[in-house]
Parts: sequence; structure tokens; C-alpha cells
Amino acid sequence: MTYRVLVTDEIDAEGVALLSAEPDLVVDEVPTLPKDELLARIGDYDAIVGRSATRISAELLQKGRRLRVVGRAGVGVDNIAIDTATSLGVAVINAPAGNTNAVVELFFGALISLLRHISRADTSMHAGRWDRSALLGSELKGRTLGIIGLGRIGGEIAGRARAFGMNVVAYDPYIPRSRFEALRVQEAVSLDSAIEQANVLTLHTPLTDETTGMIGRRELSKLPPRSIVVNMARGGIVDEEALLEALDSKHLLGAVIDAYEKEPLAPDHPLRKQSDVLLTPHIGASTAEAQRNVAVDVCVAVRDALLSGELSRSINVADVGGEWAEVEPALTLCRRAAAVGRAILATQGTRAIQRIDIRTGSSLAAARSALVAAAARGVLEGTVEQERLNLINARAVAETRGIELSTTETPIPDNPYAIEVRLSGGMQEIAVAGTAHPGSSPRLTRIGAFHVDIQPRDTLLILTNNDVPGVIGRVGTLLGAAGVNIAEYHQARLAQGGQALAAVSVDGDVNETIRESLLGLPDVLSAAVVCFLPG
Ligand code: NAD
Repeated sequence: MTYRVLVTDEIDAEGVALLSAEPDLVVDEVPTLPKDELLARIGDYDAIVGRSATRISAELLQKGRRLRVVGRAGVGVDNIAIDTATSLGVAVINAPAGNTNAVVELFFGALISLLRHISRADTSMHAGRWDRSALLGSELKGRTLGIIGLGRIGGEIAGRARAFGMNVVAYDPYIPRSRFEALRVQEAVSLDSAIEQANVLTLHTPLTDETTGMIGRRELSKLPPRSIVVNMARGGIVDEEALLEALDSKHLLGAVIDAYEKEPLAPDHPLRKQSDVLLTPHIGASTAEAQRNVAVDVCVAVRDALLSGELSRSINVADVGGEWAEVEPALTLCRRAAAVGRAILATQGTRAIQRIDIRTGSSLAAARSALVAAAARGVLEGTVEQERLNLINARAVAETRGIELSTTETPIPDNPYAIEVRLSGGMQEIAVAGTAHPGSSPRLTRIGAFHVDIQPRDTLLILTNNDVPGVIGRVGTLLGAAGVNIAEYHQARLAQGGQALAAVSVDGDVNETIRESLLGLPDVLSAAVVCFLPG
């Protein structure tokens, strides 16, 4: 299968080369296209890779009938209609890590520049002056750096700050204590506690409801006198009006700003008139190395999404809670177990599934949300007209059809890689269980009350029959005569002479005529056929 990828917005050549090197990818590289031209072309492509210049609107996503992946070389995805992408099953992939170092280096460059008046010194020298006495600076060493948000960038800044002899205190309620310990950073119990200690306060959080305006008048007033505020994260985290007031009152020594409430910053914005503020035009990620890193990161992820269905880097897929390779067999098992459950309920007259519940062993607990999406996909496949039904949109599609999705918290004991998918509809319920060890093919271990051991591959026949001699032979003969090859045959029963269940894995397809012939055999009570879809 060949996939077509549209690359735009001057993505770094090293990233594009990674895509072009794949024989199954056809890459078209174009400059940033006008909206109408892009709309006219997008229908030909399976993926688009760009930067912020190209807007991936809902209209564009709708027109892109083949689109599976949108790649953004960089971190911000404000230019992408993510909700539409999710409902259409289009993976959105960004590259959040490649520019960390660029921001960290700019942080120290700008901070030292502010403290040592480097840009003023340079301007005065170029103007022919020798203003040594007006350029008395101060040092980083001995200052306390307060970091709000100890993620990628905050964490790297902490390490470098210690090398400069700074004391580091950080506030981040969403990371474990072990990260503070590993980075040898003092953990502040509250935002206020970090602020009250910081001579330099720096923000490295995303812009969320919680962080919008997080540093306002009240917080700025709690900083020790003559502190510095740095915002290289996102405009809006620091209230610009309050910042200007704190600068005017000389409570602050200065500020360093790279990200603004409104960008580009208005030419007459009062911040531009403030001599104690060092301003940069959102260039945190603007280094050649960062642009190459993000291009390579996103192109690798887009390539893997197209060629091997790896969606772990997609920001609109449920967190798989670990390495993709480790969770992939479990995703396959959930999808297939759900398909088996649905087929069996259908033989009992229940076609409308009302509830899907997932229970897992301890090692798969973090992946439950993705696993329930995989089960929803297994239930919906073949019943909804959705060209791109996948892990990304299966939850949303299930929920719009009134299917309740849930996960059971208590782990299945004994096997950390065990999974149980429970489906219910009307008065019927069925649980299908299995195991999905990393690196091996998943196996079904239970269908309803019957213990089995069979690999769900290609096509699975599930028969119930009276436990009497001769049934297995008759089933085998019928399938053989129809040219259907049996890969595995597992017969299970609850009690001798009672009801039995046969799980028969076969190569290729089993059509309705064969199923009806099976049903016509003596002692066969029900026959369900599940053809597992690839992908
Ligand atoms: P990250 O996701 O690795 O880290 C963010 C951290 O913020 C996380 O540890 C999270 O727990 C923490 N956090 C979230 N809400 C918080 C809150 N209310 N209080 C305290 N901590 C909170 O992100 P990152 O890669 O380190 O990026 C940090 C910021 O820098 C982002 O806003 C990103 O958009 C921005 N950024 C700016 C530039 C630039 O050009 N200036 C470049 C890259 C990244």
C-alpha cells in the first residue's frame, strides 16, 4: 500500500528525507499554500505535515477524505481543528520535545543579558560611547530561582541553574516527588510558597484554565522586592497589566518575555517602552537545531503512524500508558474479544450493545482508556459506516450511539497481562477474556463460561453444541469439504454430556452458506463467525 504525504511550510530537509526514503510513501513538498489551493489538493493525501502557517481547519479535514494523519513540526496545535480530527479518526501528531534545549538556552541568555545589561551595553558601544559606570550588573549565583512547571523545559532549566550556583525551588502539583528528588530541586508546597522565595520566577506550564492569569497582581506582590519574572511559556500565564504595574512601582527589578497575550505584540504596547524588560518575539524554539529536531520527530511519528499504525505519538488518541509495542497485543486482543462477544450476542438475538466494560491485569492498568476504545472499535466494526473508524474516534462514535463505556478498577489477579471484555445489551451479557503478553500474539482464554485457548486470527468460528461424540468430526468434515482450512480447534465443556463450545480458528473466510450448513449439523446449537479485520 502506498501513502501520499503533503509536506508544507518549509519543514527541515532532514525530516522530509526520512519520509522520502520510504518506498511506500510518496512525498510532495510544497510551499505554504493558499487556503483554496490546499482545499483543492487535500483529497489526494493520506497525511499532511506542516507548521503553524498552514491552518488545518474543520473544512480541510472534511475535504481530506483519505487523511489519516496531521503532523505539526512544533508544539502548538492551536492551528488544528482537533475536535473535528478526533471525530473523523485523523491522528494529530506534534513534536513537543525537540525545542526544549533551545528554550533553555534562550532563558539563560536573556536572563544574563538583563542582569548584565548586555543589549544596552552593545547599543551604547555601537553608538560610540564607553558607559561602564551605567552598566553595573548583578549575578545569577546565590539567587533563588522559582520554577513553576517542572516538565521538560522546567526540568532542564533546574539542572543548568544549579550549575550557575542558583538555589532552585519548584512548584508542580502534577508530577511525583521523585522527579523533584532526581533533579535535586526543593519542592514548594504551594504556588505562593514558591513565589515568596523566588528572586527569579519563571513559568514553564502549558496555558490551561488553571494557568491563565496564574501570575497576577496578588502573586507579583508576594515576590521578594527586586525580583525578576520570566515568561517564555505562553502568553496569558502572566497578567501583562499587573506586570507593568509591578515594574512601574519598581517592586520588580525587571522581566524577560518571549510569549505574549496577543501576538504579534502591538507596536505601541507599553511593554515595548519598559527599559527594564527584555523582550523577544516568541523565538524560544527558533534555532536551526530545534527546527531540525521537531521536523525529524514529527516525520518519524507520521511515518510510523502510516506504515505501522503506531498511534502512541498522536495527541488525540487515549494515552496507552506505556510503550506502544508493549500495549499493542492488548489493543488487538480487546478489539477482537469485543468482536467475538458481539457476534455471540447476535446469535442470541441481541444486536444492540449497550455497555462495554474492560478489566485488566495490573500491567495494563494504565492503558485501560485506550483498551476500552479498542473494544469499542471491535464492537462497532462492520456495524457503522465509518471509513476511518479507529482508536482515535471509536470512543466518540460509541458514545454518540448511546453505548456506555466503563473500566473496572480492581485488577484481574494472577496475570498482569490478562484482559476481560464484558458486553451487555438487553437482558444478555457476555464476558470474553484473554491474555496479551508484550511481544507475543494475544490468546483468548475464556468465552462466556467456557475456558478456551486459541489465537484470535483471521476468522474464528464459535459453535455451541451438545457434548456428544462425533460433533468435532462432522464439523471438520464439513469445513474440509468447503475448502476451509482449520488452524486451531479448541473444544470446551462445562460438564460431561452438557453443553460444549468449540472455538475454531480457520484460514480465510467462512460465508453464510457454510455457517448455515454448520447450524444444520446434528447437535450443533449455534454458530457465530467472526472475521477479524486487519490493522
Ligand atoms: P511539559 O508538558 O513538559 O511541562 C509542563 C509542566 O507544567 C508539567 O510538568 C505540568 O505538570 C506542569 N503544570 C501544568 N499545570 C500546572 C499548574 N497549574 N501549576 C504548576 N505546574 C503545572 O511542557 P514543556 O515542553 O516543558 O513546555 C512548557 C511550556 O513552554 C509550554 O507552555 C510550551 O507551550 C512552552 N514553549 C514555549 C516555547 C517558546 O517558543 N517560547 C517553545 C517550546 C515550549
